[in-house]
Amino acid sequence: MLTGVLLVDACILGVLGLLIGSFLNVVVFRLPKMMERQWAAECAELSGKDVGSTEDAAPFNLVVPRSRCPKCAHPIAWYENIPVASYAFLRGKCSSCNTAISARYPLVELVTGGLFFYCAWVFGATPTGLIWCAFSAALLTLALIDWDTTLLPDDITLPLLWMGLIAAAVHWIPVTLNSALWGAVAGYLSLWSIYWAFKLATGKEGMGYGDFKLYAALGAWFGWQTLIPIILMASVIGAIVGIAMKFTSGLRDGGYVPFGPFLAGAGFTALLVGPEVLRNFVGL
Ligand SMILES: [Zn+2]
Repeated sequence: MLTGVLLVDACILGVLGLLIGSFLNVVVFRLPKMMERQWAAECAELSGKDVGSTEDAAPFNLVVPRSRCPKCAHPIAWYENIPVASYAFLRGKCSSCNTAISARYPLVELVTGGLFFYCAWVFGATPTGLIWCAFSAALLTLALIDWDTTLLPDDITLPLLWMGLIAAAVHWIPVTLNSALWGAVAGYLSLWSIYWAFKLATGKEGMGYGDFKLYAALGAWFGWQTLIPIILMASVIGAIVGIAMKFTSGLRDGGYVPFGPFLAGAGFTALLVGPEVLRNFVGL
C-alpha cells in the first residue's frame, strides 16, 4: 500500500520534473544572454552613453519574448512545447523550416523528470523530497550553463548555497547546521586559495569565482566531510574528459574546460549513491 502511494507521488513529481526540465531549457538558453545584456547596459551607463537608446531595449527575460525557432523565427505553439512528446511528434524538426531541433532539449526534460522521480521515490513527496528536487534542478541548470558559456550565475549558485544551509537548519537534509556551515566556508576558501596560488605562480586563472560558490553550496548540502571526495571525483573526471577532448580536438579556444559540470556531476553522485559511499570510496 505504502509503495503504491510512493509510486503515485513519484510519478506526479516525475511529470512535474518533465515540465520543469522544459523551463530549465529556457533558463539555460536565456539567463546567460540576460546577464550579457545587463553587463552591456552597465558598461554603457559607466561610459556615459544614453542607455535608453540602445537597440536591445525590447524586453528579454525568462518569460518574454515567446520561444521561436532560432533558424526561421517560427513561434513555437503550445502543442509544440510539450516536454519530450512534442519532440517525438515533430520527429526532432521545426514544423515550419524542418531545421533539426537539438536532442538536448528532450534529454534535459527526461533527466529532470528522472531526477524528480528518484527524489520522490527515495524521500517521498515530503519537504526533503521536494528540496532535493530543487537541488537537482539548480545543479543541472548550472552544469549546462557552465558547459555552454563558462558562466556560473550568482542568481543560481547563491540561492543554492542558502537553500542548503536552511535545509540543514530545519533538518530537511541529514547534515547538521554546523557541518553545512563549515562545508560552505571550507568549500569557498579552499578553491579561493588554490585560485590565488595558481594565479600568483602562473599569472593565469585556473577557474572562476562561480566554481568557489558552487563548491561552497555542495559543502552546505553534503557537509564539510564530503568536500574532499567531491573535489577528487570532479578533478579526476574533469581531467579524463579534458584529455579526451584534446585528443578528439573537441577543445574550445584557449583549451579551457569548465569545472562546474564536473562539480555538479560529483554533487549528483553524492545525491544518488549517498555521501557516505563517496567518503568510504576515498577512505575518509
Ligand atoms: Zn524553423
